[in-house]
Amino acid sequence: MTQKIYLDHAATTPLSEEALQEMMPYLKENYGNPSSIYDLGADNKGALLKARKAIAATLQCEPQNIYFTSGGTESDNWALVGIAEQYASRGKHIITSKIEHHAILNTCSYLEKRGYEITYLDVDEQGFVRLDQLKQVLRSDTILVSIMTANNEIGTIQPIHEIGRIVKQSNALFHTDAVQAYGQIPIPLEEWGIDLLSASSHKFYGPKGAGFLYIRDGIRLPSFLHGGKQERGMRAGTENVPAIVGMGKAASLAFETMKERREKETELRDYMIHRMEQEIPYCHLNGPRGKRLPNNVNMSFSFVDGETIVILLDMEGICASAGSACTAGQSVASHVINALGISADLAIGTLRFTLGRQTTKAEIDQTVDALKKILEENRKLNPRFTTFIQNNRKR
Ligand SMILES: *Cc1c(COP(=O)(O)O)cnc(C)c1O
Repeated sequence: MTQKIYLDHAATTPLSEEALQEMMPYLKENYGNPSSIYDLGADNKGALLKARKAIAATLQCEPQNIYFTSGGTESDNWALVGIAEQYASRGKHIITSKIEHHAILNTCSYLEKRGYEITYLDVDEQGFVRLDQLKQVLRSDTILVSIMTANNEIGTIQPIHEIGRIVKQSNALFHTDAVQAYGQIPIPLEEWGIDLLSASSHKFYGPKGAGFLYIRDGIRLPSFLHGGKQERGMRAGTENVPAIVGMGKAASLAFETMKERREKETELRDYMIHRMEQEIPYCHLNGPRGKRLPNNVNMSFSFVDGETIVILLDMEGICASAGSACTAGQSVASHVINALGISADLAIGTLRFTLGRQTTKAEIDQTVDALKKILEENRKLNPRFTTFIQNNRKR
């Protein structure tokens, strides 16, 4: 088997060797329950505190502001449903954006069915929320604004600082889904006015099934899982100690190595975008050139179907993802790509490549070479393309 080229780090990252080593004792000999009072348990309790401190250090907050969860989805659900329930007497209006992850959007639908009113902000053609629209829709009964730090499909980094400042002038709280951004860019919580923040371990080289929610002092959320007194009575259930330990290590590493990874990935990202734009006709970059995640390349190609290209790339050992999905025999672009307002033809030919710390220039070259060949062959099979080319020749 040939070596895989993995360019889907926004979907998940491989577990780092360092995090795995840190986890091993807690998968084997240190199996105690952190709630037990004998040594074997106490050692686990210490391990949880160490992970909590490590994560708090990356965000410059106190360890008690970090609550462990099972991942990004749970953190998002807890933040939204928790704030909605806790502050219902103040109002039932929530603001979010059209390009949030489904962990946010589907939780919003759930709340809508329970009498909450949700406003979904539009984005511009690069995926930025419109600040003037945010100011317009904020009301005295708005209890929460939830805007993602960076988008998982197109990599757009939102102006969180400005959004935080606008939200602070209202009664609302500010939550951000930082699952893609955490570990890639610094997030100064205080300066950006963030009240709650979600993150997920498996997006920054930690194990799956662990995440956390940052909750600022003074905000009280109702417990999401009812049971024991874990997480200061806020999230019941015996903690996933090995995964949390791995997440703590991965968090420290992510911040220690952030600068060098960011520089390297930004350079490779821009190189990949440049090669595609130079060598592949009829393509369009989604998301901004500057304020985008260092590892994100999202490109739409006319005259092809994204999912088909992903399958053909997979046959060459390259892992990427599409910005569209085939439902009942028809290609439908994702809600994020649709929100950008590009043509339907471009939208269904959308591909996402997300680089990682192990990605090399050789892999990028191999991928662009393969993509060029696949697109050329695939487009030839499309009658719309051949007609288009013939018409262009006649002119
Ligand atoms: C992956 C992701 C999630 C979900 O996190 P899980 O830990 O997989 O549940 C939520 N939001 C964004 C932006 C993501 O990329």
